Amino acid sequence: MNQKYDAIIIGAGIIGCSIGYELSQKGWKTLNIDKLGASGHGSTANTCAVIRVHYSTIDGTAAAYESYKYWEAWDKYIGVEDSLGLAKLNKCGVMVIKSTANDQLKKVRNILDEIGIAYKNLTFDEVKEKCSILDDTSYHPPRRPEDSKFGTPNDTPLKGAIYYEEGGYISDPVLSVHNVQVAAESHGAQFKFNAQVNSILKEGDKVSGVTLEDGTIIESPVVINASGPHSFVINRMAGVEEGMKIKTRALRHEVAHLPSPEGFDYESTGCPSSDSDVGAYWRPEVGNHILTGSEDPECDPKEWIENPDEFNRNLTEQAKVQALRLAQRIPTMPIPTQIQGVVDLYDVADDWIPIYDKSDLPGFYMAVGTSGNQYKNAPVIGKMMAQLIEQCEKGHDHDNDPIVFHLEKIGHDLNMKFFSRLREINEESSFSVLG
Ligand SMILES: Cc1cc2nc3c(=O)[nH]c(=O)nc-3n(C[C@H](O)[C@H](O)[C@H](O)COP(=O)(O)OP(=O)(O)OC[C@H]3O[C@@H](n4cnc5c(N)ncnc54)[C@H](O)[C@@H]3O)c2cc1C
Repeated sequence: MNQKYDAIIIGAGIIGCSIGYELSQKGWKTLNIDKLGASGHGSTANTCAVIRVHYSTIDGTAAAYESYKYWEAWDKYIGVEDSLGLAKLNKCGVMVIKSTANDQLKKVRNILDEIGIAYKNLTFDEVKEKCSILDDTSYHPPRRPEDSKFGTPNDTPLKGAIYYEEGGYISDPVLSVHNVQVAAESHGAQFKFNAQVNSILKEGDKVSGVTLEDGTIIESPVVINASGPHSFVINRMAGVEEGMKIKTRALRHEVAHLPSPEGFDYESTGCPSSDSDVGAYWRPEVGNHILTGSEDPECDPKEWIENPDEFNRNLTEQAKVQALRLAQRIPTMPIPTQIQGVVDLYDVADDWIPIYDKSDLPGFYMAVGTSGNQYKNAPVIGKMMAQLIEQCEKGHDHDNDPIVFHLEKIGHDLNMKFFSRLREINEESSFSVLG
């Protein structure tokens, strides 16, 4: 006999698990299916898990700030015990360097003011009081080392940064996903691992379930695509990509793990930092390491991946480029000959703003295009998707009358047309991992 569920969620990463958690709390009988062996073992496993609240749009910032409130009280959000323990927010704040590249953060500061997020303007002397290893030399625009101008300082040094306390990072993102899985299971949600979805079933003009690689048929009137960097594969499988103005692609990214300067305790004194002047972000990592990724400066070629099951998981020369850029800001940081780190894929939307939406196929929904920056927003994404799915299944016409989601902790109404697959490219976006 075929198995039947109220909703099937393809993917058990941080996004799929959060949706399963929220729908199961509403009484839905859900099944998360993942082709890997456990939850959070897809791209979420390699996230830098920076929990920042600043974005280049008001709605992006509001969603991140609301989500921060859940990370801050993670035990309350999860609501049950997990035998593996609970993930912990390292609440060390976030620093963003003011530079020519980001117009001294004027736009970001206006948005923070509008949402009511407290931050401090720091001079560079104050930046150095917080983190003495940082150097104020400006190198903008970011360059590659083969550029003869790489490392040529600009005449004017950096002016300073903003720092806000309500931010930090999660050092064990896989555990955080396990927490959400356990929370969902406590409400009856089910999970199926080592199971690959191979086709989306339809009955008439509506979705009716999925078929697995081994031929198993699982029936459901609702199927949700939360497959991370495989999102375009699943959308094509469902035949919904043609009906989307904004599409998604997989982009390869490298993150380098570097040692802190000798004798400096970066692990307990550092905080996630973003620096458009050298095109880098970084944060503390266990073992007194500094973990650094690229902010996608124009000079870096983008490595789009046709098949998300086949890409080079080894670090390349790019990791060294990122290390050299960070060494411009932290000149005392040693660069090992053999750099360690991780490689994974972003699921990038055309304008680097995610798609949380229905599709043209009734019953088929998507939470995709997370563009390297939506781990932090998972608690809100789960709640938004649950409301969207519930209302659409009751007949609401979300495309013509977009649902407004109330961010209850910060008192902000978020019109979900911001995340529509039918939107025009959002020109307010940073068109980068900054969102
Ligand atoms: C290097 C890197 C650094 C990042 N840093 C940050 C950061 O600092 N802060 C931040 O907020 N965000 C960050 N992100 C982004 C964030 O990690 C992602 O947005 C988020 O983890 C995506 O979660 P997901 O559940 O959509 O995807 P995934 O975790 O990839 O989960 C999707 C799941 O779907 C499964 N799947 C796919 N196809 C099928 C199929 N056919 N059948 C069954 N299962 C299938 C996969 O196995 C996978 O487990 C980063 C991402 C990367 C790669």
